[in-house]
Amino acid sequence: MKRIIIATGNVGKMDEIKSIITDPEYEVISMKEAGVSVEIEENGSTFAENALIKAKAVCEICKEPVLADDSGLEVDYLNKEPGIYSARYLGEDTPYSIKNAKILERLDGVPDEKRTARFVCAVAAAFPNGEEIIVTKTMEGRIGYEERGVNGFGYDPIFRPDGYDVSSGELPMEEKNLISHRGKAFRRMWEILSKLDEL
Ligand code: IMP
Repeated sequence: MKRIIIATGNVGKMDEIKSIITDPEYEVISMKEAGVSVEIEENGSTFAENALIKAKAVCEICKEPVLADDSGLEVDYLNKEPGIYSARYLGEDTPYSIKNAKILERLDGVPDEKRTARFVCAVAAAFPNGEEIIVTKTMEGRIGYEERGVNGFGYDPIFRPDGYDVSSGELPMEEKNLISHRGKAFRRMWEILSKLDEL
């Protein structure tokens, strides 16, 4: 079976990616499962740059095609914070209950129409021959008023996707994947990759 390596150490993300790329010809494995352990400094200034930095760094080590994503939450009222710093917001190891509470506090009194936000996901593919492909997709929505739901991860409990009365933390993973930034970006990337002669 052919395999594709995903450059992430985030278990929540990896679970989602495995349930998005379900091509029977491919085994989707994390860089850890591929035996790659490397600290990558995400010093790009956009989601796309960071995704490419991660994919290229791992591809250089394992000499196989590698996919990486960089994602985050943009809250319009907070000038698109936390953005590319979503994982590092208030400190990498700070529990999301605290990060989410802080965002809710910063939006205290802000009316619904100004609570617009989106999850963004850039997916990069890096190939041993130096070729690169990048896809970026979003899931639009609003920040709620309290944490709701135990599914998903990160900021899901405070994010209400447009058209839904529930948070993305209340959606089953399969349903979130249908509308999510990551679902859309990886599905589009897989469409592109599956048309290439050689992966
Ligand atoms: P990355 O691992 O550098 O891409 O950081 C992604 C961070 O963005 C995560 O650690 C979360 O804080 C946030 N994030 C991205 N996608 C989601 C999602 O689908 N749900 C909740 N939080 C997310």
